[in-house]
Amino acid sequence: MNKKYRKPLIAGNWKMNTLPSGVRPFLDELKTLIPRFRSCDVVICAPFTHLGSMTKLARESRIGVGAQDVSLHDFGAYTGEVAAKMLTDIDVRYVIIGHSERRAYHNESDFEVNAKIKAALAAGLSPILCVGESLEQRERGLTLEHIAYQIKAALSGIDTDQVKRCILAYEPIWAIGTGRTATSEQAQEVCAYIRGIIRDCYGARLARAVRVLYGGSMNAQNAAELLAMEDIDGGLIGGASLKTADFARIVLTAAEELPEEQLQA
Ligand code: PEP
Repeated sequence: MNKKYRKPLIAGNWKMNTLPSGVRPFLDELKTLIPRFRSCDVVICAPFTHLGSMTKLARESRIGVGAQDVSLHDFGAYTGEVAAKMLTDIDVRYVIIGHSERRAYHNESDFEVNAKIKAALAAGLSPILCVGESLEQRERGLTLEHIAYQIKAALSGIDTDQVKRCILAYEPIWAIGTGRTATSEQAQEVCAYIRGIIRDCYGARLARAVRVLYGGSMNAQNAAELLAMEDIDGGLIGGASLKTADFARIVLTAAEELPEEQLQA
């Protein structure tokens, strides 16, 4: 599988951090730090309260905007929920689905993840589907089995044309927000395995094109090594996406626009 078929994607996940009033200064600074990147897609997945102003402020830039969750329902009596069409109506293009924090703290099931992906695709969003094993599953040698199960459940009933618009993110739970990153070999092994599942289910062509991200304590220091791996096409970045300088460095690393000596610094 040749990496040249895929443009890297760096997606920030702000989680429940920052204030809406912080969006403008963040984007202004980010735009100056990554003024002319072409060879990398950049997305920020922000809280719902930030999205309206973020899409307006990002319009002139090439920064894409994503949500962190979406309702599996269309419209209706679902207090507190946000429908996919509400997101596309304000120019949101991406949505994280199945993040381990939602699975853990909101008991989100594989069935719901699948329904949310279908709702997102129907509205024209690109889902960023998160999968990943717990430390216990890794230690018991169950990582690949668990990943296969999560992906097949999440994409059940979704056809090739729709899977084309999905982005997959391998996020080992034990590496999220812990400062403990998967080694580049561990991350590569699972990302290659994910691509293999896509190949088996949807064919070699789609597997060559689909982007598989790594997420879990990726930062400005370890990004180069992870992003150099054959099957890692970008990152889903939590903590390090909150600091413009760190996030910009990861983007520039992915875009291969940072000189080698700066990558080492
Ligand atoms: C995440 O929230 O998806 C994530 C990878 O967080 P962090 O980078 O902080 O580990």
